[in-house]
Amino acid sequence: MLAERIRQAFTRLTTPMQTATYKCHKCGLSVKITNYPDRIEPLLDLALTHRCKPPAKTL
Ligand SMILES: [Zn+2]
Repeated sequence: MLAERIRQAFTRLTTPMQTATYKCHKCGLSVKITNYPDRIEPLLDLALTHRCKPPAKTL
């Protein structure tokens, strides 16, 4: 599933730093998490399921 693959990629990216950033260039949605790894997944779900449903290549 695409969302799962994106989530795994995000986990690889964010595990060392415990931060995550995501910006949708279509609608301007911006998500940034710093030092709160427990909150990455719910915010990532929000980013992936908002109205634009971004493809993996935008991450
Ligand atoms: Zn968007």
